[in-house]
Amino acid sequence: MPQSSKPAPSASSFVCSDGSCADNPQTFTGGGAYRMHLKRHSRPYKCRRPDCCYNKRGFPQLRDLQRHEVTHKGARSFRCYFEGCRGSATRLDNMVRHVQMAHKVKVRKAEIAALCSGPGS
Ligand SMILES: [Zn+2]
Ligand SMILES: [Zn+2]
Ligand SMILES: [Zn+2]
Repeated sequence: MPQSSKPAPSASSFVCSDGSCADNPQTFTGGGAYRMHLKRHSRPYKCRRPDCCYNKRGFPQLRDLQRHEVTHKGARSFRCYFEGCRGSATRLDNMVRHVQMAHKVKVRKAEIAALCSGPGS
């Protein structure tokens, strides 16, 4: 009966060190179990916004992507600078129109862009 202190690596063992397994690599003895496990790492549903980190990362399930995309809809690029006004727009043109229509002020696009855009953009 041969004894070995360490398990010999066999051709049928699969090691996953992807993503969340990087810190704690998982070993699988069968290819089937390994492939099943890999599905956890596959993220075919990607965010369509090129500036989003999930554009590269993606989500494992469509549900996750849909939930994520809601956050983009809620994130408005421009917010009205009038105090107490909750007006906002994703596009500068719409923001300009809002200020002119709702507040009857003549402002230039550049001013709106500077006044209504959030920090860091
Ligand atoms: Zn893994
Ligand atoms: Zn996104
Ligand atoms: Zn407003």
